[in-house]
Amino acid sequence: MRSEEWWAARHARLVKNEESFREYNNRRLEREPVDADDDEELIPFVCECGNFECVQALLATADAFTEAHSAPDRFMVIPGHVFEDIERVVSTRDGYQVVEKFDMDVDAEWAREATG
Ligand SMILES: [Zn+2]
Repeated sequence: MRSEEWWAARHARLVKNEESFREYNNRRLEREPVDADDDEELIPFVCECGNFECVQALLATADAFTEAHSAPDRFMVIPGHVFEDIERVVSTRDGYQVVEKFDMDVDAEWAREATG
């Protein structure tokens, strides 16, 4: 497999994992008896990092969760659970970090250069 194909496959897999955790968290939030903009009650969400084996919980309010997912390519992870080749940290809060996916096309370019 050529390096950019490998990279694209890895990217897709990680994003898929993160999206499934985000969906899980969304359903979780729907079941919580709080308003979507509640900023007091801490809710245990699952870490949305790309590690398939990570099932650790992070605590955040409904308001923080909603804010962290203001864009479709943003995810909430435990501090340090960042895959630096596919995403960057956009904010660091108490107990979690918000990461944003790199743009796929731009990064395929970057990956080709990085791997020669
Ligand atoms: Zn994690």
